[in-house]
Amino acid sequence: MDFNKIFSDIYNTIKKVENTGKVAQYIPELALVDPEKFGVCLVRLDAGKFHFGNANEKFSIQSIAKVLSLTMAYEIKGEKLWERVGVEPSGTAFNSLVQLEYEKGIPRNPFINAGALVIADILVSELENPKKEFLAFVNQLCHTKVNYSLQVAESEKSCAYTNKALINLMKSFGNIKNDINEVMDFYFHLCAIEMTCEELSQTFLYLANDGVCPLSQKVIIDQSKSKRINSIMQLCGFYDEAGEFSFKVGLPGKSGVGGGIVVVRPHKFSMVVWSPRLNAKGNSFLGTKFLELFTTKIDYSIF
Ligand code: GLU
Repeated sequence: MDFNKIFSDIYNTIKKVENTGKVAQYIPELALVDPEKFGVCLVRLDAGKFHFGNANEKFSIQSIAKVLSLTMAYEIKGEKLWERVGVEPSGTAFNSLVQLEYEKGIPRNPFINAGALVIADILVSELENPKKEFLAFVNQLCHTKVNYSLQVAESEKSCAYTNKALINLMKSFGNIKNDINEVMDFYFHLCAIEMTCEELSQTFLYLANDGVCPLSQKVIIDQSKSKRINSIMQLCGFYDEAGEFSFKVGLPGKSGVGGGIVVVRPHKFSMVVWSPRLNAKGNSFLGTKFLELFTTKIDYSIF
């Protein structure tokens, strides 16, 4: 398959569409990103790698990191993890407080902010040096050296009013065990990891390979847990637009407010598209369109 031609054909089609998306403004540092950047990388399990556009420029992966922190916490805690966070789509915004009060501080799933804060709390309890160990975990998956952007982490910390409200509410229900500031600091750092499309698609290949890192052959997570993480991505990976994304693209994945989207085609490939302008639900406007055309054109969804 000539992926290079497919990528440029799809790009030429979608760039004619008026991009009504907007770069995330609520984290000041993210507002500075060039809105016109566009990168794609697809890494196949059989070692083929295909790039397009700004695929080798670093960007802030934001919520995409929540899949990696979930993987780490799930491996450590096993099924007990689900006593503190659910696996249902929320149908509400990623930072909504409303549901959390009704549901007594148990977040609907690990990919909304409340759920990711609980996962961060678990890792703070379980790891000696969470920031260092999380970074080492990511580095072993992508086989290059990635790092936190301290500017992005600080920038988010300076205006984290809603996340502070979420964590305080959960603390009042007993679902946060550690010091709030310590958990938030870890959470902001993991969201502030910077990666290229290539690094990120390489990183996610373990979820296309039943939990085994294809480069090192190391079992990152067992097959059943890998299946479950893919299922959660399918149902909860795109804020309150997860149904629509699944309808259009038909692959499990996760997006972030930095404009990245990662999708996984189990047993075949993982793929990342990066375009910083976001639609009203917080998903990359062009990234979603690109993936919709891609899976339609080459019949590569899971359905
Ligand atoms: N760090 C961001 C926040 O907590 C992540 C949001 C996202 O990418 O969905 O708001």
